[in-house]
Amino acid sequence: MTTLRLAIVGAGPAGIYAADIAKKADRGFDVSIDLFERLPAPYGLVRYGVAPDHPRIKGIIGALREVLDGGAVRLFGNVDFGTDITLDDLRKHYHAVIFSTGAIRDADLAIPGIDLPGSYGAADFVSWYDGHPDVPREWPLDAREVAVIGNGNVALDVARMLAKHVADLMPTEVPPNVVAGLAASPVTDVHVLGRRGPANVKFTPLELRELGEVPDVDMVLHDEDFDYDEAAKRAIATNKQVLVMDRILQGWRKREPGTASRRLHFHWWARPVEILGTDHVTGIRWERTEPDGMGGARGTGEFRTQEVQAVYRAVGYFGSPLAGLPFDERHGVIPNHEGQVLGDDGALVPGVYATGWIKRGPVGLIGHTKSDAMETVDHVLRDGSMWWSPEHPDEASVVELLESRGVRYTTIEGWHLLDAHEQSLGVPEGRARVKVVARDEMLAASLGASAR
Ligand SMILES: Cc1cc2nc3c(=O)[nH]c(=O)nc-3n(C[C@H](O)[C@H](O)[C@H](O)COP(=O)(O)OP(=O)(O)OC[C@H]3O[C@@H](n4cnc5c(N)ncnc54)[C@H](O)[C@@H]3O)c2cc1C
Repeated sequence: MTTLRLAIVGAGPAGIYAADIAKKADRGFDVSIDLFERLPAPYGLVRYGVAPDHPRIKGIIGALREVLDGGAVRLFGNVDFGTDITLDDLRKHYHAVIFSTGAIRDADLAIPGIDLPGSYGAADFVSWYDGHPDVPREWPLDAREVAVIGNGNVALDVARMLAKHVADLMPTEVPPNVVAGLAASPVTDVHVLGRRGPANVKFTPLELRELGEVPDVDMVLHDEDFDYDEAAKRAIATNKQVLVMDRILQGWRKREPGTASRRLHFHWWARPVEILGTDHVTGIRWERTEPDGMGGARGTGEFRTQEVQAVYRAVGYFGSPLAGLPFDERHGVIPNHEGQVLGDDGALVPGVYATGWIKRGPVGLIGHTKSDAMETVDHVLRDGSMWWSPEHPDEASVVELLESRGVRYTTIEGWHLLDAHEQSLGVPEGRARVKVVARDEMLAASLGASAR
């Protein structure tokens, strides 16, 4: 065999890094890579997760695009694995496949009231404000007081996007339906709840600091949460990140009470136990916790409530099963050993690999998906004896297959067209880009005059 035909499913950072690493590896044989993506545009959560007011992070798209532009990788967008193409199809056309399908839905939080109208998952809200084509265009922003459950960066993103005045988002790529929704929001108070203390947060310093700089938003912290025990003091003394974040929080505590029209309240040692309401969310109830001496928290039996009309749970993302593949329902990942997929019997599944969030769960930054991809690709390249023996390894046959099924696939050239279209939409408003949301409009721009 002179050419490894490699399929990668999911064109987020994990899939694109995997393609890049396979392409550049010292391998002794050629490689030809096809990248399948269910959306008409690549880049996964960099486009549909990273907040619009984080243009520096969104800029990673530039580096990912260079991989797709550089040859040896073909992009097939608007192709859904499981619908448009199956594992059997891939077996007929490739020697191996890497799944890098990430995670897009919210992890569950099993507390009473979680299903009430007005209780939302952060992932759904993120998909809305980041203009994901497959979610409704309208978002019910009618609450004055809102609770956000969680102490990770997604909770910070959600709290910031809720509290920030839309005028301060206008230099960004936010689409028109999101601008209209946020502009009508009557929100005044956002309450962020964490079940442990300020020294246990999972935020990162940059993101936390940024929150304190949002115009016309005051930070409200409570002295009782800062009565640090030995474990917290140790964490601050030994972990640079925790130290920096503690300094940020202490700085906010010293601020004079403000007169901003919106407020962000932090409640630590607060374990949500119930979302209140009968037909709609009217409040949230939590148990006050305390340090357990080992860096964790235990209940105190004291309960508090806060009136809110909406609750967002930012308690983590969760992967989705893929047709024909094993799935670990507990962790929301494809079971694997260093990226080599394992069957229900624990044995390696020949030719099938995983990388990114679907491999190791929805934690970690974009950069982490690179080292992760190295590990997976290393196995792919060494596992020659386990590869499939495809009937149709030539590059043309998979195109014929998609066309015979009437799949309106997009390509990297199509992304260039959509990219240029989005940039042109920004020009009249002096913005770098206005994101296109509707799948039809994305396809129209990507496919151009093509009759496909
Ligand atoms: C709200 C939020 C904000 C974040 N902000 C930051 C940040 O500021 N900085 C940072 O470094 N990291 C950030 N991250 C983390 C970062 O987004 C992830 O580390 C990274 O995107 C994971 O990459 P991935 O390729 O594994 O998954 P994804 O980015 O989810 O990509 C998976 C791709 O697979 C596609 N796919 C799924 N199913 C199928 C299918 N059946 N067929 C074909 N294609 C499919 C998806 O459409 C998607 O394009 C953030 C994450 C979230 C959720």
